Amino acid sequence: MVNQLRRIYLSNPHMSGGEQKYIQHAFDSNWIAPLGPNVDAFEKELAEYVGIRGALALSSGTAAIHLALRLLGVGPGDLVFCSSLTFIASANPILYQGAEPVFIDSEHLSWNMSPEALKEAFLDTESQGRTPKAVIVVNLYGQSADMNRLLETCDHYGVPVIEDAAESLGAVYEDKASGTFGKFGIYSFNGNKIITTSGGGMLVSDDCNALEKARYWSTQARDPARHYQHSEVGYNYRLSNILAGIGRAQLNVLEERIKARRLVFERYKAALSHIDGIDFMPELSYGRSTRWLTALTVDPKVCGVSPGEIVGAMEKENIEARPVWKPMHLQPLFQSCRYYFHSKGESVSDKLFEKGLCLPSSSNLSEKEQERVITSLRKLFK
Ligand SMILES: *Cc1c(COP(=O)(O)O)cnc(C)c1O
Repeated sequence: MVNQLRRIYLSNPHMSGGEQKYIQHAFDSNWIAPLGPNVDAFEKELAEYVGIRGALALSSGTAAIHLALRLLGVGPGDLVFCSSLTFIASANPILYQGAEPVFIDSEHLSWNMSPEALKEAFLDTESQGRTPKAVIVVNLYGQSADMNRLLETCDHYGVPVIEDAAESLGAVYEDKASGTFGKFGIYSFNGNKIITTSGGGMLVSDDCNALEKARYWSTQARDPARHYQHSEVGYNYRLSNILAGIGRAQLNVLEERIKARRLVFERYKAALSHIDGIDFMPELSYGRSTRWLTALTVDPKVCGVSPGEIVGAMEKENIEARPVWKPMHLQPLFQSCRYYFHSKGESVSDKLFEKGLCLPSSSNLSEKEQERVITSLRKLFK
């Protein structure tokens, strides 16, 4: 039987009502192009919000990671370390550059890159006379990785960090914005993220010269000549002035969106945390998570139901829940890549994948809709 109730999505776009004003301005001034006043202002406003010198608005977060890798000179034959538990967009650009990804496990607490596994990876590759060209640290589900411990190791080896903060815009680590710790940071404004331009991304850095170079590559690497002259390979990676307008209005309500997502999390926790075998993703004392997605682990041995079964059962009630990301070292695409465990014989990301579940977490999820999600879950646990 088809469920007639309205579908509840994992993470919905949530417009503020202020977007039309910026879009209208783009139309009125006829800036219907991948550049213009909204693009410039969006870059400036985002850089101010996170407290960094420069920002470059791009067509996606993936494009931002790609440009960051190229800025760091990553090319064929190079190694790039990357969190294993993530969405594939973190790792695909390593292949675009013809480099070799090496995947790093998570730690239990933050679910993010394990400082122990990272150390092990450095020691092991060092023993083979190699060091990676870059490390991509991912901040999962709205929470920053333990950047101090990770940076300590990367700094020791003199290897730059790209912070994939696609899921953690608005999160804080020790009073500083998530995404501003590495040499480069990236954000995403894809439709499922905490704020959205329907599609888009941002590359941020304190190195404004590097961002200028990336700007040049992102517009087909056009040399400063009147005729069309090109000395390097480029891309068409810029963000449209219309979409940047949406981004400006979204940025204005980011703090409200964070509050709303955190409230969604609190309601789930109040309703479900007493159930044996359920553990919510912890929030570390070193910062603030945005709770972009409410994530938890379900132990099938205790709960009598697996995350896969839960996702299937909720689908029948027209509710979209999802397992956590399938780790990169388990992906057929990356079959031949190396992987470093958190500790001997223990892969934390495998366990999180087996037990992990993400619940509908939109900032515009109504209390009534959330009740529907909670009721459908409770039925499964008995
Ligand atoms: C969404 C996401 C990206 C990519 O962003 P796009 O804008 O969709 O290209 C990268 N990394 C992570 C962890 C993401 O969740």
